[in-house]
Amino acid sequence: MYYTKRKVKKGPIIILGIIILVIILAICGINLYKKYTSNEYKLGEKGYKENEIEKILKFDDKYITYAINHDYEDDFIPLVEQKYFIWKNYDKYINFIDDEYGDKKVDYSRVVSLVNVGANNEPYTHTKKTDMDKGYAILVNKYNSLPDKYAPKDIVEMSNWYAYPDNSIRKDVYDAFKEMSAAAKEDGYTLIVNSSYRSYEEQKEIYDDYERNRGKEYADTYAARPDFSEHQTGLSLDVFSPGANMSNFADTETFKWLSENAYKYGFILRYPEGKEDITGYNYEAWHYRYLGKELAKKVFESGLTYDEYYAYYLDD
Ligand SMILES: [Zn+2]
Repeated sequence: MYYTKRKVKKGPIIILGIIILVIILAICGINLYKKYTSNEYKLGEKGYKENEIEKILKFDDKYITYAINHDYEDDFIPLVEQKYFIWKNYDKYINFIDDEYGDKKVDYSRVVSLVNVGANNEPYTHTKKTDMDKGYAILVNKYNSLPDKYAPKDIVEMSNWYAYPDNSIRKDVYDAFKEMSAAAKEDGYTLIVNSSYRSYEEQKEIYDDYERNRGKEYADTYAARPDFSEHQTGLSLDVFSPGANMSNFADTETFKWLSENAYKYGFILRYPEGKEDITGYNYEAWHYRYLGKELAKKVFESGLTYDEYYAYYLDD
């Protein structure tokens, strides 16, 4: 009786034990499976440290997938974290860093700016025709040219009230300049244009002259090549105050007024100080580019050069 009793009791205990064991093993198995298939684990396997993994997991899925499927890259996180990082430029950023920095400390913001605008290449190499469908937003620089021998059709003469003799510009730009000029006048400043639309032939003459007399390098430093000049767009004006010149205009109150107000009339300072390697041009306090009011405001508020703004927001 006692023997039978014991026997009956033992069976369910063993079964229960087995069930519990199976459950424990299943939970462990699931957890292990989860661990080894988690992005966190995979990134760790690639060599990313805990704090790096934390950052990567906050990125978009496509960046996480990239990191999981490629070797550890110490430039990956700082690049993706850049405000103006463009995914399709990733390989170019990496190549540029390798060429330009070696073991030196990398300025990632500079890398992103230069590569985005194409300035990781020598000027006038890797050039393309600019997208004329962009209208007043077209980008013209040492990598983006106008169509061959481009000439705008709505060029009008500027009166001597606004410009030195022999200046002409596109109609809408002229109207915008008149409006800006009147506003400046009201604040006590006089604006005068000394260079404006330049035809392909005129630009070619300037460039060829420099090249003949001083060589190609000099010519490329001081003049744009024909079809690569913003003046040929009919959207750019060189603006001074009467009596000022290239060497002192940046120090005038008129320049200060323009820096703060030009965007309200559709113009931006095209070649700002300290951005020479991005724009490809020396600082020109007098060179203003018409973009239309809406876009000029956005560019002004972004604090970017137009080359950078275009690359990030407008290029497609
Ligand atoms: Zn100019």
